Amino acid sequence: MLTLTNWRELSACRDSDPNLFFPIGTTGPAVGQIDKATAICGACSVREECLQYALETNQEAGVWGGYAEDDRRRLRKRWLAERRRQRQAS
Ligand code: SF4
Repeated sequence: MLTLTNWRELSACRDSDPNLFFPIGTTGPAVGQIDKATAICGACSVREECLQYALETNQEAGVWGGYAEDDRRRLRKRWLAERRRQRQAS
């Protein structure tokens, strides 16, 4: 059973260069690094678990679950709003 953290053992990025997933900035060479990282995420069997972890723990840096920082920040805002709506409804 996958838990909040043991999904990492199945990650497609396990042996990848960490610089791809944690580039400095979002412009220049970082653009190519982010593209390579998200391509690896695209073939990752634990992408959903990774993204869920990043959203729940508010990971601000790097690529998680196929989302770079800016995209994930926008996604987290929607995720938090949906969570609030669900709590109010229950
Ligand atoms: S989704 Fe991407 S960052 Fe997350 S574990 Fe998979 S390859 Fe790594």
